[in-house]
Amino acid sequence: MAKTVLVVGAGLGGLATALRLAKKGYKVEMIEKNAKAGGRLNQLKKDGFTFDTGPSFFSMSYEFTDFARECGITLPFSYYSLDPLYTVSFRDSDKVYRLYKDLKKLAGEFRDEEPGFEQAMKKYLNKCGRLYHDTNIVIKSNYDSLLHYFITLPRVGPAHIGTLFRSFWMQVSRYFDSKEAREILSLVAFFLGRTPFDTPATYTLLSYTEFMHDGYYNVEGGMYKIVEGIAGECAKENIKITYNTEITGYIAEGGKLKHVVDSRANKWSADIFVINSDAAVFRGKVFNRPEFSEEKLDKMEWTMGSLTIYLGVNCKLPDIQHHNYYLGTNYREYAGKVYTSAEIDEAPYYYVNVLSRSNPECAPPGCESLFFVCPVPDLRYKKSWHDRDGIVDRIIEDFSRRTHTDIRPHIVSRTVYTPEDWRDQFNLHRGSGLGLSHKMLQIGGFRPKNYDEHFKNVFYTGASTIPGTGLPMVMISSRLATERILRYREK
Ligand SMILES: Cc1cc2nc3c(=O)[nH]c(=O)nc-3n(C[C@H](O)[C@H](O)[C@H](O)COP(=O)(O)OP(=O)(O)OC[C@H]3O[C@@H](n4cnc5c(N)ncnc54)[C@H](O)[C@@H]3O)c2cc1C
Repeated sequence: MAKTVLVVGAGLGGLATALRLAKKGYKVEMIEKNAKAGGRLNQLKKDGFTFDTGPSFFSMSYEFTDFARECGITLPFSYYSLDPLYTVSFRDSDKVYRLYKDLKKLAGEFRDEEPGFEQAMKKYLNKCGRLYHDTNIVIKSNYDSLLHYFITLPRVGPAHIGTLFRSFWMQVSRYFDSKEAREILSLVAFFLGRTPFDTPATYTLLSYTEFMHDGYYNVEGGMYKIVEGIAGECAKENIKITYNTEITGYIAEGGKLKHVVDSRANKWSADIFVINSDAAVFRGKVFNRPEFSEEKLDKMEWTMGSLTIYLGVNCKLPDIQHHNYYLGTNYREYAGKVYTSAEIDEAPYYYVNVLSRSNPECAPPGCESLFFVCPVPDLRYKKSWHDRDGIVDRIIEDFSRRTHTDIRPHIVSRTVYTPEDWRDQFNLHRGSGLGLSHKMLQIGGFRPKNYDEHFKNVFYTGASTIPGTGLPMVMISSRLATERILRYREK
């Protein structure tokens, strides 16, 4: 008889692992705390507008096409390249930098500030590309022990040792002289939920994925089409998802997990359990592991929180691209306090996604669907969000000024999520948006494992286990968890 698998959490990690396992012959069922699938990769439909609520950058598309091939399906959503990839502007200037993939066009954007840009970028990307390809072995492997991890690490090659000791910012500064090029090219470090000053230089490999290896895409109809597509494939495999059900307890027997227990005291059993809830939080909150107690979790390094704003406006913004960054003028100083200071800066930095630009069906005619993300401290540092409306108003005012369009009288739909909302919706520790950070002692063999330390039939998938955060990494994590489960079956 087919072995049964219960997946706790229907985020991208849970859905992808469920489908992979069903395709391998397991009988899979899922439980989700919320009323819909997707986790952080979610959607808000309100007042005639559609908003992506979390991820808006779709990159490393090959991780998704590989997934589809491995599952024997046609990728159940469509996407096309964005060009420019994104724009960046600084508060003290009207200039908008368009970040093109084409090197010559890109160099043109930095003509005044960095005359040698094209050559410098070629050299920089060459190094980033080597880093990307050489570190693949570490990112895409399961580790059975720390020793196994340490044996794998040298396979990256001695050429990259220096990047272990430099920050993202230091690495970019080796190639570029101007403040503008350095700041713009190091922005991608924020994708990992920290700043370029505390993100290891190894992650400059992300510049290669941005500009050369793949780029960014518009997912047609919005990012939630990814969830709808994969959930649709799960339904074809008869994977049932039970919503509005949160796992809060467990019953174990003889070194194995027998049941997980939901908040209404219902017991759920299976031969194998896959946890898509945050791998560190679940171990602490549900399995009561002292190494993952609230105090211990607080001592770990977490990515920043997100203040996210969803605005429907009844006007068009034709000059704003799909992805846009709005920076201030004190990058280093701002980065130094952005995730630890309880006071939000008078003039915050933020990002704006105009979903309706590439997907007109996501807003009524003549309207735009806007999604703002402002990096903020997690709830350890900023405990209360009573001041959220004032902060949001300041961001809207700044955006209006910088785009020369006062959107305030045009706002017909407004929704705000603070780190408190992110914590409560998805059980994210202190509202940290991307989970555990990627400092050297929290990646690879040091990250919470994708197999349980005590119950041999429990596995983890998602952003806080290996390899890390972001949609492509979560797809890799689903492959690594599946490989472990298949090995477990063979034992
Ligand atoms: C504001 C924001 C912007 C982002 N932007 C990008 C981007 O542009 N590009 C990108 O690649 N990544 C981005 N990310 C990161 C990306 O969203 C995550 O890395 C990814 O979605 C995590 O997927 P997951 O499956 O690991 O976890 P989750 O999406 O958190 O899924 C876990 C699921 O488990 C459920 N759950 C939790 N606990 C329980 C329980 N006890 N019982 C039952 N169910 C439970 C949750 O409700 C959730 O549905 C962003 C994240 C945020 C917050």
